Amino acid sequence: MSGSHVWHPFTQHAVEPAIPEIVRTEGAYLHKADGTRVLDAISSWWVVTHGHRHPRIVKAIETTASSLDQIIFAGFTHEPAERLASELVSLAPSGLDWVFYSDSGSTAVEVALKMALGYFRNIGAPRSRIVVMENSYHGDTIGTMSVGARGVFNAAYEPLLFNVDTIPFPAAGKEQETLDRFEAIASDGSVAALIVEPLVLGAGGMLMYPASVLSELKRIAEASGTLLIADEVMTGWGRTGTLFACDQASVTPDILCTSKGLTGGTIPLAATLATDAIFQAHYSADRRKTFFHSSSYTANPIACAAALANVEIWRDEPVAERVAALSARQAAGLKRFEGNPSFTDGRVTGTILALDLQADNAGYLAEIGPKLRAFFLDRGLLVRPLGNVLYLLPPYCITAEELDGLHDAIEEAGERFG
Ligand code: PLP
Repeated sequence: MSGSHVWHPFTQHAVEPAIPEIVRTEGAYLHKADGTRVLDAISSWWVVTHGHRHPRIVKAIETTASSLDQIIFAGFTHEPAERLASELVSLAPSGLDWVFYSDSGSTAVEVALKMALGYFRNIGAPRSRIVVMENSYHGDTIGTMSVGARGVFNAAYEPLLFNVDTIPFPAAGKEQETLDRFEAIASDGSVAALIVEPLVLGAGGMLMYPASVLSELKRIAEASGTLLIADEVMTGWGRTGTLFACDQASVTPDILCTSKGLTGGTIPLAATLATDAIFQAHYSADRRKTFFHSSSYTANPIACAAALANVEIWRDEPVAERVAALSARQAAGLKRFEGNPSFTDGRVTGTILALDLQADNAGYLAEIGPKLRAFFLDRGLLVRPLGNVLYLLPPYCITAEELDGLHDAIEEAGERFG
């Protein structure tokens, strides 16, 4: 917009073309001020699950806002937070009994890291090493950048980031290497936590690994007393085909982070779920063992009500069936790219499809990224490649025809740029 004072995220304003104004959202679409619409093939940065402005969530927001706004959450509570916590405990992998609220994926991860270190300190056996997976992304705050992949995004802030141990990404055929490396690092009992994105590493390039690796990582973690933090900020709420990705590995992590789809993608909310052992380590007459964390908007009642409506939608509507149908269509869509020389790799996990475009220069700074974005936007499609990785992560209300159209557009992009 001309005369704008807005500094946009992950946006190089010097080269970004005019930024379109969105005036309305509905279902799978963003409606632009010029009267045209854009198909939101990445769920507006992976948050929208059922579709934009699901009527039931909008209603819950309106109703709650007429009686509650923000309430200090230290020393006070409210029904939406209480009810949502019970729902989350029953929906999450069994054994996660405590829910700590915050307001973004990054804060959910920061909370998880602090819980892990607090746990070991409070039980009198301090540990501070964190193990991370190569190519991970957990957010853009200092702590979450520290446990994420290092590169162009965080090079300027490197002096502020803490050291971690990195295990290789478990690429096909190299899974054992990952497990062996983790076992070697963790075996001396000095590692506080392993943090992973279960099954799909999102911003690192929609890299996928099998559930069996996750269950093995959990087994090794348990054997060495290392906590497993599952960052389900992106993978939660059906993206990988099940409610949580951990469900596919029958794994209960010690700590689970959820955000994005928690409110169906309407308003910000996050939760970090923890085992009773972690809660009990902070439960003490000794006030130094308090979990010292809060954000001002912790457990916002309107956001909690939106999340409760999301849970009800999962319960009352055939969401699991929609997710299954979308997953099947993505898998079928992938088949048409087999043997296509424009792409070097294709993969699907649940509702997420990703294809690596053959490109000489594949990194974030490669010219291909902005060109691809413009190519799709010209066709009324919001697709935001990660370097040369084209992916679709659509809301579950997308139709078969719309999805087919997206697969067509990807094929055309392959012909043009691959
Ligand atoms: N963790 C994962 C796996 C993510 O994909 C993201 C965001 O994309 C985050 C954490 C950070 O979430 P937020 O952007 O809400 O801070």
